Amino acid sequence: MDHLENRKFKKYLIYLIIVSCVLITWKVLSSDSEEAYISEVKECLKLFQYKLQLTPLQNMLLKKLDDIPIIYVITPTYYRYVQKAELTRISQTLMLVPNAHWVVIEDSEERTKLVSNLISDSGLKTTHLVAKTPPFEKLKAKDPRWKRHRGVEQRNKALSWLRDNLQLGKDKGFVYFMDDDNAYNVKLFSEIMKIKKVGVWPVGLVGGFNVETPVLDPGTGKVNGYKSGWKPNRPFAIDMAGFAINLDLILENAKANFSYKMEKGFQESQFLSYFTTKENLEPLADNCTKVYVWHTRTEKPVVKSEVSGYEV
Ligand code: UDP
Ligand code: MN
Repeated sequence: MDHLENRKFKKYLIYLIIVSCVLITWKVLSSDSEEAYISEVKECLKLFQYKLQLTPLQNMLLKKLDDIPIIYVITPTYYRYVQKAELTRISQTLMLVPNAHWVVIEDSEERTKLVSNLISDSGLKTTHLVAKTPPFEKLKAKDPRWKRHRGVEQRNKALSWLRDNLQLGKDKGFVYFMDDDNAYNVKLFSEIMKIKKVGVWPVGLVGGFNVETPVLDPGTGKVNGYKSGWKPNRPFAIDMAGFAINLDLILENAKANFSYKMEKGFQESQFLSYFTTKENLEPLADNCTKVYVWHTRTEKPVVKSEVSGYEV
């Protein structure tokens, strides 16, 4: 009798597994977006959980799909010869970050084909926005770079998008400003995942230094100053690439934005002061001893002649 019961149970189990597999395949094939795909997989896993009692590993997977915080990566970008090369490089860095959501804001009137195609080809989770820098704020060809704020309009547009589309308490994640011309080690994104409020780290090749970095008090391990090539006494002498913020803080402080009114070179410092104090910064990258991002700048190419038929 026992033997018969056992066989019956096994048959039932096999039947259940086959039905579930068919169901998963059907559901996955019939879903059209990545979000729909994940939610279908979750539903199917829940079905398993209900019928079969999931193993701890399966339970963990189910929980992880719900809980994994998203890194919202904000990239302002504008047209010039190197734009496609820059965006290709950073999109391929982001392909190594499973929980990245790439918010790309073009400095233009309308979304361009070049950027639309590039971000859709990347297969990343993306949001594509536009925000044009007003002509009077735009850097002229002969102006030195420090003369104008760059990326103000675009970063603010991305912040509004986050505030309009995400919900405090429900959506969990981090916000990082990833300029299109810097170079990034994927390890940086694992560091960002450790942030409670505001995390900071060194940035290579910036401000006339080989590296700019927060300086830690050897006793407390907290930030007590900065090594920076320019005004190290700023409240936060940190480059845009040198910090990331918990999404909750961005959503809680709706007024925290960038502004043309800020003193030149003070965008980062004034923006950070909405959220925290020097003492409360969280030093990452092995207590600010490792460099995972470089403030590189691509040389402007000299193009003497254009071969037609290519989008470079
Ligand atoms: N940027 C922009 N419009 C501009 C100039 C810059 O959208 O007119 C973007 C640029 O693509 C980059 C960010 O703003 O992602 C910062 O600009 P840049 O790298 O020139 O600044 P810097 O390295 O000098 O801080
Ligand atoms: Mn740059």
